[in-house]
Amino acid sequence: MDDNKEIEKLQRRIERIKKHLSELGEMRPGSLSTQYNVCGNPTCRCKRPDNPIRHRPYYQISYTRGGKSKTEFVKSEDVEKVRLQLRNYHTFKELTDEWVDVSLAIAHLRKKE
Ligand SMILES: [Zn+2]
Repeated sequence: MDDNKEIEKLQRRIERIKKHLSELGEMRPGSLSTQYNVCGNPTCRCKRPDNPIRHRPYYQISYTRGGKSKTEFVKSEDVEKVRLQLRNYHTFKELTDEWVDVSLAIAHLRKKE
C-alpha cells in the first residue's frame, strides 16, 4: 500500500474515533471498591464470637484528579451508574490514546514523503 493510501486509511480511523467519542456519555475516573463496615460498637451483633452477623457492605470510589487523591461514598443504588461512568472513562482514554498514536503514524508517513 502506498503512503497516501495508508494516510487516508489512518485518517478514516481518526474519524471513527471522533464519532465514537461523541457518543460517549457520562464518565468519571477512578476505581470502585466494596468496603465492609468496621463497627465501633463492641456489643454489636457483628462482634459476636459465635455466628457474627456482618453489616452490609458499602461502596466507595477512589480517584486522583489534579494531583489530589479523593475517596467518595457511593450509594448502592448508584453503583451501576458509576460502573458505566468508569467504563466510559476507560473507553475515552483508550480512544484518545489511539487518536494520538494514529496521528503520530500519519506524521511519520508524511515525513517520509
Ligand atoms: Zn457492628
